[in-house]
Amino acid sequence: MKITFLGSCREIGRSGILVESKNGTQCILDYGIGFNSDDRLPYKTDINNLKAIALTHSHIDHSGALPLLYKTTKIPFFTNPVSLATTEVLIKDMIRISKYPYPFGFRELDLLKQNTYFLKNGTRQKIDDNFYITFIDAGHIPGSVSILIEVDNKIVLYSGDINTLTTNLINPANSQDVPKLDTLIIESTYALREHPPRQQLEKDLVERINHITNNGGKVLIPAFGVARSQEVLLILEKYNYRGKIFIDGLARKMSRIYLDYPDFIRNIISFRKALKKAHFVTRPKTRSIVKKSEGVIIAPSGMLKGGAAIEYIETILQDPTSAIYLVGYQVEGTPGRGLIDNGIFEFKDSGRKRHISNELRIKATCDYDYFDFSSHSDNVHIHDYIANLNFQEHSNNNVFCIHGDNKSTTKLASELTKKGYNSIAPEIGEVYQI
Ligand SMILES: [Zn+2]
Ligand SMILES: [Zn+2]
Repeated sequence: MKITFLGSCREIGRSGILVESKNGTQCILDYGIGFNSDDRLPYKTDINNLKAIALTHSHIDHSGALPLLYKTTKIPFFTNPVSLATTEVLIKDMIRISKYPYPFGFRELDLLKQNTYFLKNGTRQKIDDNFYITFIDAGHIPGSVSILIEVDNKIVLYSGDINTLTTNLINPANSQDVPKLDTLIIESTYALREHPPRQQLEKDLVERINHITNNGGKVLIPAFGVARSQEVLLILEKYNYRGKIFIDGLARKMSRIYLDYPDFIRNIISFRKALKKAHFVTRPKTRSIVKKSEGVIIAPSGMLKGGAAIEYIETILQDPTSAIYLVGYQVEGTPGRGLIDNGIFEFKDSGRKRHISNELRIKATCDYDYFDFSSHSDNVHIHDYIANLNFQEHSNNNVFCIHGDNKSTTKLASELTKKGYNSIAPEIGEVYQI
């Protein structure tokens, strides 16, 4: 069989893997967009014999370019209900707010939906003779999966984005049900980092929130709308936070979707309880009331690049009794990173209608901090995950390290080589014969 890497090679973005059997049957796993302004789309190659497309999860670096494959064709698309619902929201949002002219639109997204087949985890789906795919829990966000590919009697596991820790929202990645492999394709996002212990981090966050809101202040949590916002809600529920909670923007939309798919949530009873206590902000009028109230506001975007968080930020930045607590990794150059590094919030409106001025530069007088919650495994857990997998006796113990910057992917590959794996960080467009 042949594997072609279409993206996410020594970068994060435009994930895509083309798998091809001996007789030419092709299947694409993920088809995302990139975040570099020049190279947004996956690598172009001959896909004339494409028989199936499968998705690991809805984040747009994995799903964003899928509509491009539905300009003319009617290829079966395999995913699960919660991933389809969240993918639709995220792609629509992406098309609506982007200045980049994507070569597809809502029509192609519709065609993608019409060709969707739902696949349950653990069910072996035939694509062609000697060509099967199986979904396995990946523990990253609700509905996320790793994909097991069996082609020409070779077995490959594509991890997708994984988290091996149990979070409040979902179950961890499942490595127990993976058969003996020939090849592993693994993500490397945090291959160079170690996350702080989760329990302590949760306690610290709730303690800091309580301190602020008990003194009449507000806490803005600019969490990612997909999964992280809901994880924060569950943490507040777990520690019995008694103050007011407001939830706005994409976080509100995604929370409603998760309620519709209880099978993908670890403890739906706690989730329902947590959501019941939160006030959903649906109108601009309510926002002005929220701005005057004490309590917690959960509002994306996670790196303060836009979204509902921007509606509240001016009020909070200039209020010494309030706080902004970031709960996800802040990419360099984003307003969130600027706030953490320099205590200054700088924001340029992308030209859409907002109730605030086009450019903001405010020195924070409020409290601000970064809590390293993550939905990706770190160095220790990636190595544990790989150690728990078994490889076929006759295999070369191939491990491809993708989905990380140049340093993370190559360092992980060299660490694994030292452990006896045949490991490499592939480059975009490279083809490997397995
Ligand atoms: Zn992801
Ligand atoms: Zn990703």
